Amino acid sequence: MCWQPEFETLSRERLEALQLERLRATMAQAAKSPCYGAKFAEQGIAPQDLADISRIRDLPFTTKEDLRGHFPYGFLAVPRTDLVRLHCSSGTTGNPTVIFHNRHDLASWANLVARSLYAAGARPHHVFQNICGYGLFTGGLGFQYGAECLGMLTIPAAAGNSRRQIKLMQDFGTNVVHAIPSYLTRLYDVFVELGVDPVKDTRLERLVIGAEPHSEETRRRIEGLFGVKAFNSYGLSEMNGPGVAFECEHQNGLHIWEDCFVVEIVNPETLEPVAEGEVGELVLTTLDRQAMPIIRYRTRDLTRFLPGTCPCGRTSRRIDRITGRSDDMFIIRGCNVFPIQVEKVLMEIPQVGNDYVIVLETKEDNDQMTIEVEVSREWFTDDYGKLESLRRTIAHRVRDEVLVTPHVRLVEPGALPKSEGKAVRVRDLRG
Ligand code: ADP
Ligand code: ZN
Repeated sequence: MCWQPEFETLSRERLEALQLERLRATMAQAAKSPCYGAKFAEQGIAPQDLADISRIRDLPFTTKEDLRGHFPYGFLAVPRTDLVRLHCSSGTTGNPTVIFHNRHDLASWANLVARSLYAAGARPHHVFQNICGYGLFTGGLGFQYGAECLGMLTIPAAAGNSRRQIKLMQDFGTNVVHAIPSYLTRLYDVFVELGVDPVKDTRLERLVIGAEPHSEETRRRIEGLFGVKAFNSYGLSEMNGPGVAFECEHQNGLHIWEDCFVVEIVNPETLEPVAEGEVGELVLTTLDRQAMPIIRYRTRDLTRFLPGTCPCGRTSRRIDRITGRSDDMFIIRGCNVFPIQVEKVLMEIPQVGNDYVIVLETKEDNDQMTIEVEVSREWFTDDYGKLESLRRTIAHRVRDEVLVTPHVRLVEPGALPKSEGKAVRVRDLRG
């Protein structure tokens, strides 16, 4: 039960009617929580007053600070004894937040992940290997139950131990792998070390990658290394985790499951909706969650709606890959820079390897950006002239993109420190 045309191919009109009905129910449910209960009472908000779905704009936003401020139970809309699980965000940008689920919520989430995997071409006869942290991080159990719901034989491989990952893939004939993109490039290095060819020596058919920002260039590289398509998966723990938005076989942006989330894109300064197709902050409202409904959550993730319809027949709108979080951006010498802009430039240069880190420092009262870059295994050389020329190419191209000339430090393939979970792309050592 993973292709659900009754939800996935609705006309706009019918979808909005469904959303309105579900939003009203969600508001009534949310009003049972101490936090929304007080907010709604104070602002005189009642579910039946909502005339149509566009009036969601009259409701207050919810931020990460709100969730932290009412930690742990302030957003709870069911009795504590109804809860069966909690998850936390990975805490990329500060203290983690906690999200609670009851049985209904977990079933709904698993169904969404199953639909997502199905959209990306996974089928019940496939073997699915989930290479990511289990535990509080939502990518582990989220994909586990979603893949089981779809009916795949699911290997809870968890993160790390690359040699064992490769052995599992070979022993059980893994067809679909989910992993974070920065890990897959490392895994490829271990394939090379072991002399195992990921194309010829495995049964891999497709990859699912997500949980961290990555450029189109990085996706294409990963596809080149493993010889299969890689599908972008987006989610965040506040909206369950994975299974919020997903690429279908056409890889033309991420379908967002609008029967279960109301999707808005707003200008992060004015908080007004952006013009159609403009980049802004993604704001999401849960439509099928009981324990902890969240209304108008400011994700801080930046994206835009993509125009047109998708040949797959799904009518939900598609969003562009996330270009970064509003709080990822750093300012250096007056220029606003997103790490993904640097990544895009680096990954277009064939001599560049798969890993990099941006280091920001203050030297003699001046801010300085240094990019430490691994060179590619194939190109690796100790010819000073060639290295110098690559260094200059990188510095120029990055300057053209972000308007600041970086220092570039080239390092050997595999030399940069690796983190267990999501890659850390910026080390800001300024005061
Ligand atoms: P944290 O906010 O602490 O990282 P989560 O583990 O919930 O906690 O991570 C969710 C965030 O990860 C999203 O808000 C987004 O910034 C990022 N993310 C998830 N999937 C993707 C993706 N496919 N592309 C880009 N960023 C992503
Ligand atoms: Zn599609």
